[in-house]
Amino acid sequence: MKCPFCGNSDTQVVDSRVSEEGGTIRRRRRCLACDKRFTTYERVELAMPSVVKRNGNRVEYETGKLRASLSLALRKRSISTSDVDAAVARIEEKLLASGMREVPSERIGELVMAELKKLDKVAYVRFASVYKSFEDIGEFIDAIREMQGPPAPGKLRKE
Ligand SMILES: [Zn+2]
Repeated sequence: MKCPFCGNSDTQVVDSRVSEEGGTIRRRRRCLACDKRFTTYERVELAMPSVVKRNGNRVEYETGKLRASLSLALRKRSISTSDVDAAVARIEEKLLASGMREVPSERIGELVMAELKKLDKVAYVRFASVYKSFEDIGEFIDAIREMQGPPAPGKLRKE
């Protein structure tokens, strides 16, 4: 940590405390060169693991893809957006709690299937039957979109 006054990188932590919300650590530092004091804040970073596809390629985890695959499986089913949000949150919690830096795409597929099984049996079967023959969720989405065909020109598709 560089001193903001003189740029020196030798600083000493004189006080540390956790913020009231608990997510941030506030540190009071003293510059060993100019003796000025300053405060830094450290935040816990929750990083989603990278996704390892079946072919070994690694891609960044994307919430949007996960949500899209759940929504596609659940289309025309009577499942509320908040139920989908809760399912996405549970899947992400599990991925974070695993502490893994990398997660196989199959594992995400399994988590999606477990959530769908609880939410809607039809969507579960729909997802399981299609997803299993694909490389990852991205391909699953592409396949479903192709099956649906392009949206009618000049018209927004409504679900
Ligand atoms: Zn300094």
